[in-house]
Amino acid sequence: MKIVNSFTKALPIEENTDKRSRQVRGVGCSIVYPLVFSSPKLIHLSKDVLQMIGWDNLDDKTLLSYISGQKVPRDFQPYAMCYGGHQFGYWAGQLGDGRAITIAEIIHQYRFFTVQLKGVGQTPYSRGADGFAVLRSSIREYLCSEAMHALGVPTTRALSLVLSGEKVVRDELYDGNPKEEWGAIVARVAPSFIRFGNFEIFSARRDIKNLKQLADYTIAKFYPEIQGNTKEGYLDFFEAVVKRTKTLIMEWQRIGFVHGVMNTDNMSVLGLTIDYGPYGWLEEYNLNWTPNITDAEGRRYSFGNQYSIILWNLTQFANALFPLIEDVEALKKILRQFKVQYQEEYQTMMLRKLGIENTQKGDFTLIEELKFNLENSKMDMTLFFRNLNKFDKNNSLLHLKYLADNSYLSNKDFIKQKEVWGKWIEKYALRIKDINETERIKIINSTNPKYILRNYMAQMAIKQTEKGDYSLIDTFYSLLKHPYEEQKEHEQWFAKRPKWADNEIGSTMLSCSS
Ligand code: AMP
Ligand code: MG
Repeated sequence: MKIVNSFTKALPIEENTDKRSRQVRGVGCSIVYPLVFSSPKLIHLSKDVLQMIGWDNLDDKTLLSYISGQKVPRDFQPYAMCYGGHQFGYWAGQLGDGRAITIAEIIHQYRFFTVQLKGVGQTPYSRGADGFAVLRSSIREYLCSEAMHALGVPTTRALSLVLSGEKVVRDELYDGNPKEEWGAIVARVAPSFIRFGNFEIFSARRDIKNLKQLADYTIAKFYPEIQGNTKEGYLDFFEAVVKRTKTLIMEWQRIGFVHGVMNTDNMSVLGLTIDYGPYGWLEEYNLNWTPNITDAEGRRYSFGNQYSIILWNLTQFANALFPLIEDVEALKKILRQFKVQYQEEYQTMMLRKLGIENTQKGDFTLIEELKFNLENSKMDMTLFFRNLNKFDKNNSLLHLKYLADNSYLSNKDFIKQKEVWGKWIEKYALRIKDINETERIKIINSTNPKYILRNYMAQMAIKQTEKGDYSLIDTFYSLLKHPYEEQKEHEQWFAKRPKWADNEIGSTMLSCSS
């Protein structure tokens, strides 16, 4: 394990350690030290990530001092990045790491990692906010990052969850009722946390020199297969980011994940899921659903909008790179390809969810009818797809009992859906007639997770932890390490959302307050 200073060597830095909010121009980041809390307490540690970055050899005291921000590894210059972004469709100007500080860059076993602490106080990018993070949002980021990784979805990782020991004031529902909550710190790890917004801010400020330097750094470090430094190279870079982003969204669609705040400052140039805020998992299949109450009216970032939003975000990214490429037609061509490929790959992905490997005529209709039925019958997405491993093509109508059980409609209301489902089931049985059952079940079980972090589960873990009991965090952490495996002792988590959670804040809807 070797500590390096990579980003601060590649781009100009701001040495002024004044933490007051301000516009910072002409640099990639500002040098900022984390705030030192007097009595931080470790809640949970991800051993996998610890090993991955080679910090499993540190003694407990040193490790805690790093992940709580008390000490920064020797020879490392900690920093907060400067970035901008489009928020909810509008250019928001400078944003930046308002409460995240990079405390190490590491090379371990030939791999490069950046370690960031979230919730360790103000930076020049805090825009007047306190730079802290509350326990509830930190638990959600910690558990979900690791769950996503286990699901095979590209994501930033979480190393640790620490109580800062200080209280933080938040008005969770923005309704004029602020209250004190526990502050927490998540240490997160990724090759890099560079976002579309890092490019956008330079471009918006016509700082072409730094735009180019950032592109050259990102390419050399994270896209080594690309020959940078030329217009063609930057175009290849754009195409590579488009490709990774496409994969990311496809994966979200596969598992029913809704990020909630797909602003361009929350789009990783490595195609990682980044900045877990008011995210959620689709329970009843509803394309219109978003967990983010701030977006309840426009539903810009709803499940069904993810594809068009990504296209919009990639267009902003193309605009940001334009000064380096200066070829509108070439950029447009890549976006057109994206549209075509996305539709094709979406089809393949949905078929795999049904346990089908190859496309046939009529599959498009099969999928469209299915989505229509899922939505109309308020079907639990995860339960529906996973339970297809119990589908008996010789007794297909028996499957209706699973459908009735997995729907959020009352039994009485579900009866009205029976006929259309009956038709679909027969179609499906016919479609899989010649597919080997073992093969079909294998595809289903590896494409459709059995266990996801349902919002109410995160909420349960939060409530327990706030009372000082950390056991559910550990239970969910272990459960979600193996989301595709049958875990008989955990069958209770393979179930619909319980009634009590139907309208509870945190279980079906969330605010951005964190
Ligand atoms: P988000 O919507 O969570 O991705 O945050 C948007 C911007 O607000 C980012 O630049 C964050 O760093 C910043 N931000 C959010 N909460 C805080 C906070 N409590 N203190 C400082 N900055 C924050
Ligand atoms: Mg963010």
